[in-house]
Amino acid sequence: MNNTLNKSSIRFVKRIYRPKIIGLLLALLAISASFYESNIHIGVWATLFFWCLVWPHLSYLLAIKSKNPSKREVTHLYIDAFIMGAWIPLMSFNFIPSLAILSMHILSIITLLGLRSALFALVIEFVGIFVSSLVFDFTFKMESEMYQVFACIPVLVIYPLLVGFTSHKLGLKVADKQAKLISLSRIDGLTGLNNRRYWENQLDRSFKLNKREESSTSVIFIDVDHFKKINDQYGHIVGDEVLQKISSLIEETARETDICGRYGGEEFCILLPKTGKLEAEILAERLREKVANTNLHSKLDIKGSISLGISELSGEMNSYSEWLTIADNALYKAKSNGRNQTVVATV
Ligand code: GH3
Ligand code: MG
Ligand code: MG
Repeated sequence: MNNTLNKSSIRFVKRIYRPKIIGLLLALLAISASFYESNIHIGVWATLFFWCLVWPHLSYLLAIKSKNPSKREVTHLYIDAFIMGAWIPLMSFNFIPSLAILSMHILSIITLLGLRSALFALVIEFVGIFVSSLVFDFTFKMESEMYQVFACIPVLVIYPLLVGFTSHKLGLKVADKQAKLISLSRIDGLTGLNNRRYWENQLDRSFKLNKREESSTSVIFIDVDHFKKINDQYGHIVGDEVLQKISSLIEETARETDICGRYGGEEFCILLPKTGKLEAEILAERLREKVANTNLHSKLDIKGSISLGISELSGEMNSYSEWLTIADNALYKAKSNGRNQTVVATV
């Protein structure tokens, strides 16, 4: 078993450990109350105490030390289902305690393994009842004394609360992990900006949202000038840090509502909602000057510049990619005009 699988397998066993200790302790109370007035053999009492007090720890150790901890623990859960059933004839089929302990176990299996496993466990519980009724002499006394009903209250109340609380905590953890995964899937690993896929989705959304209303929205396409030279002169690692520095300058210059992204390589993009091209140009120029006047590496003296192309959304555009191509053409003009400048598309 590989390391990650083994770790999650051990986590599963650990997750069960505490609820199992508590659950069996509560079951001990319910079963003991049923045994109390019956003539139960000392060996049965000893087995009950061993199962409720020692078995949770023993089964934990056996599972942890086995090759496949979670699989082993699942086997233990089914063994427990059989034993749960086996107590029932010895409890004279005392209805409330029997129902309480059997349903407690099924509840925990549903939350851990799902409905199918719970149905399987239910069958095993019935097999346990059947085998036990063949092996032991038993009497029928289905009605419960008041103290026997009281002894079941912890199983009926505390255990479901515990299971509910544990599931809730687990649910929050899963939701948190999911949120982290979603955020990871849209972030560029090197710069921390939005990646191209996410940014293009936002551009597409903005295109569809604003095209009909013709609300002014602009896009800035950015390319680092002569970046290849930086790589050639200082190496890729230094080049990476320069890209990170430029990204942080982009982010600090853009407004909170702007959506910045890394389009690829040394190309960046900013989507500016509710911004006309002239306003976008002011921001672009501010960014261009900032990049040109900032040292782009923490230890080396590296200066650089960027070229920028701006396009404002117009009703004649047919797709977001047309909008982007117009910004790219403006950027191309900025390059051919000598770089380190901003060109606003006139379309
Ligand atoms: P121009 O002014 O015409 O844009 O020149 P340029 O050298 O910037 O253009 P070009 O597109 O030829 O070079 C881009 C370079 O960026 C080439 C590629 O090796 C480098 N590059 C792309 N992605 C990364 C990256 O993640 N890290 C580093 N260090 N370099 C990258
Ligand atoms: Mg490029
Ligand atoms: Mg470049």
